[in-house]
Amino acid sequence: MKQKQTTERYTLADLESWSRAAGRVQPSIRMGVFGDPVAHSLSPQMQNAALRACKIDTQYARFHIRANELRSALRFLPDLDFIGINLTVPHKIAAFTQIDEADESASRAGAVNTIRVREKKLIGSNTDGEGFLRAIRSEFSVDVRDLRVMLIGAGGGTGHAIAWQCALENCERLVLVNRTYEKAQALVEQLRSYFAGPRVLGPAARLEAIAWEEAALRAQLSDIDLIVNATPLGMNSSDPIPIPARLLAPHQMVFDCVYGPSKTSLLRAVDEAGGRGANGLSMLLHQGALSFSIWFDREAPIDAMRKALL
Ligand code: NAP
Repeated sequence: MKQKQTTERYTLADLESWSRAAGRVQPSIRMGVFGDPVAHSLSPQMQNAALRACKIDTQYARFHIRANELRSALRFLPDLDFIGINLTVPHKIAAFTQIDEADESASRAGAVNTIRVREKKLIGSNTDGEGFLRAIRSEFSVDVRDLRVMLIGAGGGTGHAIAWQCALENCERLVLVNRTYEKAQALVEQLRSYFAGPRVLGPAARLEAIAWEEAALRAQLSDIDLIVNATPLGMNSSDPIPIPARLLAPHQMVFDCVYGPSKTSLLRAVDEAGGRGANGLSMLLHQGALSFSIWFDREAPIDAMRKALL
């Protein structure tokens, strides 16, 4: 029997003939992450470390699944006896309509990053919001509830989860920015009741969507403590910086959900401005630990997972 730790990428075609593609891999693959792109994902090394630490005899693999393949790919999971999967860019919102049940975290955000398979059903959860919260606490030693937050990429799956978490935490201010402005505006309508309470810090509105333009960003940034990038901008070195470097100030914290590369142009810019920055690695760790707990109904071996990301 061939012994193989899986580092390769599987595809929809592999799921279609799974015993040929992976039937001889040991331990067998019954978990994974679906994305496009997916090569960058560090979830396999982190989750496989967790599985080994808990002596669970299965493997977690990468699946390159395109947007138009998601529905078909998900339907293979029950029959192939999968335990669960994660979803990454661009699938989190689309998956919400393609699962059998959603828990509260997924229903709130309208986005899914974790699926567990139970009695042939796909049950969706979202651990990004809680993972974000823990990451901000561990990176900056502050709580989101005390912060004025600007969220760039509010229209995406991760952006939705983070915006909802900020609302649940009753953060001081939330300014939503998105390439497609209408999506940020729609989110404002959903979150409005959470921000109806009185302003504590200054006269600015507690919740608003703004245009992604320099003048509009500049007008907001003096009343912002934490800037979050929840777009994929920064994954490629040729990507434009989400916020012009000249707008950043020393009082600001920047959390970039992107973790590869570890220092995006946005993080370099906040360093140069004298502010504090952190990449998305700690969010990856915490959302992954929460996913592990959902799949196995036990606490995740977080030290082993953290070590696997070093
Ligand atoms: P998604 O659902 O596809 O959403 C992408 C968001 O980014 C949307 O708001 C989209 O705007 C915007 N966007 C995409 N391309 C853009 C471009 N070229 N210019 C400007 N805006 C653009 O993706 P996602 O799953 O939320 O993931 C977003 C990023 O977060 C990815 O880099 C992912 O790796 C990262 N992430 C990291 C962690 C972690 O644990 N560290 C967890 C989750 C996600 P429109 O609405 O206009 O399309």
